[in-house]
Amino acid sequence: KLENATLKAELGRATWKFLHTMVARFPEKPSDDDRRTLETFIHLFGRLYPCGDCARHFRELLAQYPPQTSSRNAAAGWLCFAHNVVNERLEKPIFDCNNIGDFYDCGCGDEGKEGKE
Ligand code: FAD
Repeated sequence: KLENATLKAELGRATWKFLHTMVARFPEKPSDDDRRTLETFIHLFGRLYPCGDCARHFRELLAQYPPQTSSRNAAAGWLCFAHNVVNERLEKPIFDCNNIGDFYDCGCGDEGKEGKE
């Protein structure tokens, strides 16, 4: 089947939004289990992301820049950096990772519940 750049970009935007919003809610002080869970998730994501070329590039990126999971800040900073590596390869503008703070809000209205901060 032919590549459809519109669908590929749409999937990318939705996925980045999900990933950045997810790490924005990662615990500020993660347990070892939290850290292992995020690390495992990212590696499984690199195996399962449906755009095969994208996933292959992403696995190479993971090998070079392992996910940072020591805190919410570390995780969000790492993902922002990783997204910028992809931006650079696709010749897209580089995002200022200092502005990531309140940019991704899940709108869930349940901060502090169920162990999420
Ligand atoms: P996106 O890159 O989708 O970003 C969406 C929004 O996120 C931006 O508008 C901006 O507000 C914000 N943003 C931008 N940079 C950052 C950052 N560093 N940190 C936080 N927020 C940011 N497409 C390909 O054609 N080839 C590939 O090899 C490829 N690999 C991909 C690998 C992964 C893991 C993912 C998730 C997507 C990949 N994509 C790939 C899709 C590509 O990254 C874009 O999602 C798609 O091209 C749409 O781009 P966009 O300009 O709308 O912005």
